[in-house]
Amino acid sequence: MARYIFITGGVVSSLGKGLMAASLAALLQGRGFKVRIRKFDPYLNVDPGTMSPYQHGEVYVTDDGAETDLDLGHYERFTGVSAHQGDNITSGRVYRDIIAKERRGDYLGATVQVIPHVTDAIKDFAKADTADLDFILCEIGGTVGDIEGLPFIEAIRQLRNEMGRDQTCFIHVTLVPYIAAAGELKTKPTQHSVRDLTSLGVQPDVLLCRCEKPLPDGERAKIALFCNVRKEAVIPALDAPSIYAVPLQYHAEGLDAEVLRHFGLTARLPNMSGWADIVDRYQHPEGEVTIGVVGKYVGLPDAYKSLNEALVHGGMANRVRVNVRWLDAELFEKDDDEIAARLEPMHGILVPGGFGERGSEGKIASVRFARERGVPFFGICLGMQMACIEAARNTAGIADASSTEFGATDEPVVGIITEWMSPEGLQTRASGGDMGGTMRLGAYEARLSHNSHAAALYGATIISERHRHRYEVNAAYREPLERGGLVFSGMSPDGLLPEIVERPDHPWFVGVQFHPELKSRPFEPHPLFAGFIGAALKQARLV
Ligand code: GLN
Repeated sequence: MARYIFITGGVVSSLGKGLMAASLAALLQGRGFKVRIRKFDPYLNVDPGTMSPYQHGEVYVTDDGAETDLDLGHYERFTGVSAHQGDNITSGRVYRDIIAKERRGDYLGATVQVIPHVTDAIKDFAKADTADLDFILCEIGGTVGDIEGLPFIEAIRQLRNEMGRDQTCFIHVTLVPYIAAAGELKTKPTQHSVRDLTSLGVQPDVLLCRCEKPLPDGERAKIALFCNVRKEAVIPALDAPSIYAVPLQYHAEGLDAEVLRHFGLTARLPNMSGWADIVDRYQHPEGEVTIGVVGKYVGLPDAYKSLNEALVHGGMANRVRVNVRWLDAELFEKDDDEIAARLEPMHGILVPGGFGERGSEGKIASVRFARERGVPFFGICLGMQMACIEAARNTAGIADASSTEFGATDEPVVGIITEWMSPEGLQTRASGGDMGGTMRLGAYEARLSHNSHAAALYGATIISERHRHRYEVNAAYREPLERGGLVFSGMSPDGLLPEIVERPDHPWFVGVQFHPELKSRPFEPHPLFAGFIGAALKQARLV
């Protein structure tokens, strides 16, 4: 039977619980176990799909089309295990399902309550679909003490009671702050946080203590004493030079060994050479490139989490450091000198995914700069749509070319789709329907032209990539755009929806309707990112 590891956080948010879960899962996997990671989010949105990236960072999309928390991206990147619908739930989704059942009369007259109905639903979610797994790691979002997190803590308390200590492990991630004036690390916040947790019936088995200075032995012993855990189970977690160094560091501190000891298991040591190799590539690059990302949510790096990681992976593939310059597209709307001044130092220009009209003219101007100056260009989702509008306006003479996302237009080079084929059959949407969960979401196949640049990069002509968009490039404009040099090199299997465009007469110019960054992994850098960074490196040598 699968064993459960529940991960909670205390003291402050942003302690890196997601990375911790991903790293521990990778270590257990390295020891030969089958793992899966799940995330419980206490907020009331049904999923993060309708939240602004400023609120919640990136929305991570799974193959099966779930819009999930960005931590699922870390889980996939660290373990290589593809996440699915059932790996992320929110309080909103639990309540929605319970209220729907209540309205149908499924509770047969019972009073519907947080305990047992909400907690049962959470437990069912944790236990679903776990047949061939050794470990299920469940990360609970938020911080212990939050009102909205209480049903989740209660549910894991019940699971421990039902399954026993040898099937369940509680890991609590805390902060041990350094007070510079006193020159000391302080354990009190950790003690208080553990006290809060035990008052809810959950006694942690392992404490992972985030600290910016090494934790002295005396402080470790003190935490163990006050928090009622073994001293060896107080694991110091110093800030790491790169997120990919975290598994190595936790292993060196004995985290995976302690977890196995808790379960009474012995297993071979994980082979860490792969991790050591990618950290080495990251820390000892043989060159560097600078990539300008022209987007909208540039003030918050979490908004483009997977994109940033995919660029890092592209750098690892080429053994170069990738310096990312986040550029606000709106700045480019004022004057052309500004565009040249900002973009000339870039070895590659990337226009990422996004929503809404704001900044779109700046993005289109950036595409034009990249096309005319021969700078490597990569357009993702909205970025490909902007590349097509730029081509229509400036190479095909369609001056009014636009997207219906930005308002009514006579030249809808990009338009809304209300019908398309999915692996499950024909999908239809009302054009003015709900915003949540109604986009073209998840994995779709694309067919690539045999002699295209895209096919050469992928080394394949049938690919599958993840989507998240409501609008599509209008294939009716294919001919004028191709005459202007923008070739449609990837199409949906029915030949109706453009998936990839490229410019054969340009050093590296690729636009994709999907989000390749979601599938890039440190051990398998995505071919488009590896190719883009390779082209940027050539550009860097030219200038
Ligand atoms: N806003 C565009 C659409 O909905 C692009 C979406 C995206 O870049 N993810 O089609």
